[in-house]
Amino acid sequence: MPAVTASPAAKDKSGPQRALEKLGLVRPIDFALHLPMRYEDETRLVSIASLRDGSVGQVEGVVASCEVQIRGRRQLVARLHDGSDDLVLRFLHFYPSHQKALAVGTRVRVRGEARGGFFGLEMVHPTFKAVTEGAPLATALTPVYPTSAQLPQAYLRKAMDANLARVDLSELLPPEAVPAGMMNLREALMFLHHPAPNVGLATLEDRSHPAWQRLKFEELLAQQLSQLQAKRERELQRAPPFRVRNGGLQEQLLAALPFALTKAQRRVVDEIAHDLQRAVPMHRLLQGDVGSGKTVVAAVAAAVAIHDGWQCALMAPTEILAEQHLRKLVGWLEPLGITVAWLTGSRKGKGRAAMLAQVASGEAMLVVGTHAVIQEQVQFAKLGLAIIDEQHRFGVQQRLALREKLRSNQIEPHTLMMSATPIPRTLAMTLFADLDVSTIDELPPGRTPVVTKLFADDKREAVIGRIRDAVAQGQQVYWVCPLIEESETLDLQNATETHAHLSAALPERMVGLLHGRMKATEKAAVMALFTAGEMAVLVSTTVIEVGVDVPNASLMVIEHAERFGLSQLHQLRGRVGRGTVASVCVLLYTAPLSDTGKARLKAMLETGDGFEIARRDLDIRGPGEFMGARQSGAPLLRFADLAEDEALVHLARDAATLLLDRHPEVALAHVNRWLGGRSDYLKA
Ligand code: ADP
Ligand code: MG
Repeated sequence: MPAVTASPAAKDKSGPQRALEKLGLVRPIDFALHLPMRYEDETRLVSIASLRDGSVGQVEGVVASCEVQIRGRRQLVARLHDGSDDLVLRFLHFYPSHQKALAVGTRVRVRGEARGGFFGLEMVHPTFKAVTEGAPLATALTPVYPTSAQLPQAYLRKAMDANLARVDLSELLPPEAVPAGMMNLREALMFLHHPAPNVGLATLEDRSHPAWQRLKFEELLAQQLSQLQAKRERELQRAPPFRVRNGGLQEQLLAALPFALTKAQRRVVDEIAHDLQRAVPMHRLLQGDVGSGKTVVAAVAAAVAIHDGWQCALMAPTEILAEQHLRKLVGWLEPLGITVAWLTGSRKGKGRAAMLAQVASGEAMLVVGTHAVIQEQVQFAKLGLAIIDEQHRFGVQQRLALREKLRSNQIEPHTLMMSATPIPRTLAMTLFADLDVSTIDELPPGRTPVVTKLFADDKREAVIGRIRDAVAQGQQVYWVCPLIEESETLDLQNATETHAHLSAALPERMVGLLHGRMKATEKAAVMALFTAGEMAVLVSTTVIEVGVDVPNASLMVIEHAERFGLSQLHQLRGRVGRGTVASVCVLLYTAPLSDTGKARLKAMLETGDGFEIARRDLDIRGPGEFMGARQSGAPLLRFADLAEDEALVHLARDAATLLLDRHPEVALAHVNRWLGGRSDYLKA
C-alpha cells in the first residue's frame, strides 16, 4: 500500500464532527444518552388513497412525472402513483440530485405529512428514498434526534449507531441498589433508541415507559451521589465548635427583644445552635416565608458565635437590604456591647479604611454589608460564621468568591443561608440535597392575611382613589413598577411618570420615588423617610423587592403584574401585611394575558402560602429557572422531571446512601458514567 501523507487539512475535524462535540457527543456513553425527541414509523406502508389531509404516513410508488415548474418561484414537482391514487411531491428547495433521484419510473418510499392541495393530495418536502420492489420495511421505529443545523440527521444517526455498537452499558449497580422490577440500563437505552413498532408511542412521549423509569432513576442516582458525596466531604472539614452558655449573649438578646420568638423560630434557633456546637461546618438553609422573622434568628446565631469570641459576617444582595439588616442588628446587638461594622461598595475613603482595620483586628465582631464584605481587602481576624441572605440573588461569581474567601482559612466558618423563596420538597431533595434545611412555617402573631385583588389597567383611577383613602387613614402605600428588561430607560420613564401622576393626585402628601439608578445615599434617604412614616406613598421599581420591612405600609399596587415572576410577586406582596391593619395587594394587569401570565395571577389570587406558590412556580416554570437553578447554565436534569418523579427521587436517594456506604467504587463509576467531568457544577 502506498504511504499516504495526511495533509494538514485532513487532520482538522470535519464540520459535522465539530457539531457532534458541540452537542456534547464525545464518548460513546454521551451518544447513548442522547435520546430521540420523537420517532417516525417507517415500519408500515399505507396506500395513497388512504391518506387524509394532515395525516403522516409512508407510501411507496413509482414516479410518473417529475418537472421543474415556475409558479412564483422555482419548484420541483413530482407525481407518484401506487395503483390506488396519485400523490404530488413538492420541493421548494432542491438540488439537481433530487431531480435525478426522482427520475420517471423510479420506485420510491416517501414519508411525510399529506396536505389537501388544490390539485389533490400532496406532500411538501417529504423524505424519500429509492427502493426495489419488496424491499424490507424498518423493524423498529425510526429515531429523530435533537440536532443542530450543521449536523444532518442522517449523519447523526450513523454516528449514533456506530457508538451504540461499542458503548459499554454493562450493569454497574449491585442488584440491591436497583429498585425491584426495573429494566436494566442496556435494555432500556437500546429500546429507547429503537423501540419496537408495537409500543404505544404515548408511553414513550410522556416518559412513563419502564425504559424511561430506569433512565431517570440512573440520572437521579448520579445526582444524589454527587450531592451526598459533597456532604460527606464537608463532614471531614473542621469548623470552630461554639460553646453555648447559659446567660450568654444570645440569652441576653432574647430577653431584650420586644417580642417573644414564635414556636417555629425557637425550633430553628435550636437546630442552628445544635450545628454551631459541632466541629463540622454548618451548611444550612433557613427558609421562611416573607415576614416570618428570619433576621432575628440570624441575630441569635451571630450572638452565639460572638459570645464564643468569633466574628460573624452577614451579607445581603442589595445595599437597601443590607442597610435594613444593619439597622435592626445594631439596634439589637450594640446595647449588648457588640461592635458592628458596615461594608458596602459605596463606602469609600477614611471610613472604609477604619472599618477594614476594625475587621482585621477583630474589634468589629459583626460585619454587615453587601458582597463588598468578601472583597479581597477585607481580612477577618477570626471569622466563625457567615450568614448570607437571599443567597440565590448573588451572582455566580460572587458565590464562588465567597467560597474561596471562606476556604482561605485553615478553619471553615459555619454558613447559614436565608431565603424567602421556599424550595419545594423535591427540589430540596435533589438540587439541594447537600444542604440541611430549617423552615420557619409560622408567621409572628397579630398579622392579618393580605387580601389580593386583580384589576385591569383601565381601573387605575379607582385604584388611586383607594390610595387616597388609605393615606387619609394614616397608612402607607407602595406602588411598584415593573422592570422592563430591554430598556432600563423605559423602566425609569414609567416609574417617573407614575410618580408625577400620583404626586399630582395626592398634592398634600409626600410621594417618593426609588429606582435602581439612584445613588445609594439617595436611596437610603428615601427609604428613611418612608420608614419614618413621613412619606405616604413610595413609587419604586423592583429595588424594594427583597426584605424591606415597614409595618405601617398596608397597601401595595403592582403595576403590570403580568410581567413579574410568581415568586417575585409573592415577595413583593410580602412587603405588606406586616402590621396589625388588614392589608391589600392590588395587581394591575394589561390584557391580553399569556397562559403563564394567567396562571401566575391566578396563583396569586388563590393562595398566600409561600410553599404553595413555590410549588406552582415550579409547575409553571420548571426547575431550570428555580432559585437561579444554581445558575450553572448546564441542565441539571435531562430526563427526570421533579414535578412528576418524586417517587424515583426517594428510590435514588436510598440507593445513593447504600452505594456510598457499601460500594464506594461503584458509586464513583456511576457518577463518572453519568457526569463525566461535569460533576463540579453541582457544587457551585
Ligand atoms: P423575613 O423573614 O422576611 O426576613 P423579618 O426578619 O424582616 O422577616 O421580620 C419581619 C418583621 O417581624 C420584623 O419587623 C421583625 O422584627 C418582626 N418579628 C420577627 N419575629 C417576631 C416575633 N416572634 N414576634 C413579633 N414580631 C416579630
Ligand atoms: Mg429578610
